[in-house]
Amino acid sequence: MTYGAHRTPVLPPHPDLGLARDCELCLGWGTVVTRDGDHELCRACQPDGHGDSTAAAGA
Ligand SMILES: [Zn+2]
Repeated sequence: MTYGAHRTPVLPPHPDLGLARDCELCLGWGTVVTRDGDHELCRACQPDGHGDSTAAAGA
């Protein structure tokens, strides 16, 4: 795998900077960098826009 030499600026969907403003985890970026070097929405301040978990059965 070609890894590290080339950085592709892949931006996450749409981080809400308003929510991230006071976040201590992402420091206002709305995104965090995983150990793999990928950017993902900060789970602390950004609502889960991914339909990954089946939590649709709310009331
Ligand atoms: Zn955050």
